[in-house]
Amino acid sequence: MEVRRTVPVKLDLSDSDADLLHETIDEFRWAANYVVDAAFDDEYAVTSKRKLHDRTYQQVREETRLHSNLVQAARSRAAESLQSVVAKWKRGKYASRPYFSSSFLEYDKRSATFNADYATLSTVDGRITAEYVLPDEDRDTPHAEYLFGDEYETTGATLHYRNGEFYLHVRTKADVEDPEPPENGTVLGVDLGVENIAVTSTGKFWSGNELNHWHREYEKRRASMQQRGTRYAHEAMQRVGRKETGRFEQMLHRIANGIVREARENGCSVVAFEDLTDIRERMAGAKRLHAWAFRRLFDYVTYKAERFGIDTEQVNPAYTSQRCSRIGCGFTVDANRPSQDTFECQSCGYEAHADYNAAKNIGLKYLRRSHRSSGGGAVVGLRLNTGMLNASGFTSAPCESVRAGVHGEGHAL
Ligand SMILES: [Zn+2]
Repeated sequence: MEVRRTVPVKLDLSDSDADLLHETIDEFRWAANYVVDAAFDDEYAVTSKRKLHDRTYQQVREETRLHSNLVQAARSRAAESLQSVVAKWKRGKYASRPYFSSSFLEYDKRSATFNADYATLSTVDGRITAEYVLPDEDRDTPHAEYLFGDEYETTGATLHYRNGEFYLHVRTKADVEDPEPPENGTVLGVDLGVENIAVTSTGKFWSGNELNHWHREYEKRRASMQQRGTRYAHEAMQRVGRKETGRFEQMLHRIANGIVREARENGCSVVAFEDLTDIRERMAGAKRLHAWAFRRLFDYVTYKAERFGIDTEQVNPAYTSQRCSRIGCGFTVDANRPSQDTFECQSCGYEAHADYNAAKNIGLKYLRRSHRSSGGGAVVGLRLNTGMLNASGFTSAPCESVRAGVHGEGHAL
């Protein structure tokens, strides 16, 4: 199976090289718009790359200083936009004529070379060397996985200019063996939360401290900047926001890698989350930032798990926090949850960290659902830190329990 990934990398450029890239982007955009204009005869639009080549290649070469590969890339991009517009017209839908206004440029392996920490890029005046600005952490980042790893091959990149910085969105691909889903697979339950971003039914915790701390700082800074009320302050805030977004995306990648690792080490074929719809309304203290983080985390786990044949699922979250996860009990009452951290069953006395209890319930909900539905793919049990729990209540470690008060990033209990 072929796996494709895109990794955004900021570029470190001298002023003169940055100028060259600006000029190149301008001419590329001009070329793409020129091709679009040339495609139209009255209301009819040519979309074939061959025909567009015949109509525009000479003129674009004469009017621009673009390397022939960039001329081709601009034409391809124009052709793709034209094709999607014409497809909409054929379905009777409205679509306006394509027009390129944003700052971007498509590179392939003929117009650029991609190395571990820099790229060379074709411009309107020869090639320049663009150093990558890479994260400090050297492991568990998308960069380490896709750019430096031997497994992934770089196929091309899109250059973007945003808020005063150039970014390469580097496209990579790898041919990996078709995954073999684990036999007799089990489900890993994952609880999402504000205090702990994620807790698994195997008892791994990822703290939400960093995210929450930053959210408070952000709100403070935003309040003070809004008081100053200048346009500059607004832009400065957006820049800070984007920088932090990148940092949190990396953190979410690390957590996603941890969850996938946990699933693989425990022979899980499914990772079950609660349904993410309206999660912010359900969860006390959850901000827009949390809803964003949960969605990202789910997406990251989904694509990272796919290549190991592991699925992700969402289950109905009703009562997963109040219900006792001990098989045979299932007592459900608000009083089971005396504090944010603590679960204490008022019926059977089962005690656990509240998020761990919820992670078990989420896994159990999936387990029951998969047994009710006909057809294949049922999981045989829920994976816990001490063993496995099956649908009929057998657990290989009846005294398992994860107690309140355990925090930290991804440590096993
Ligand atoms: Zn109970």
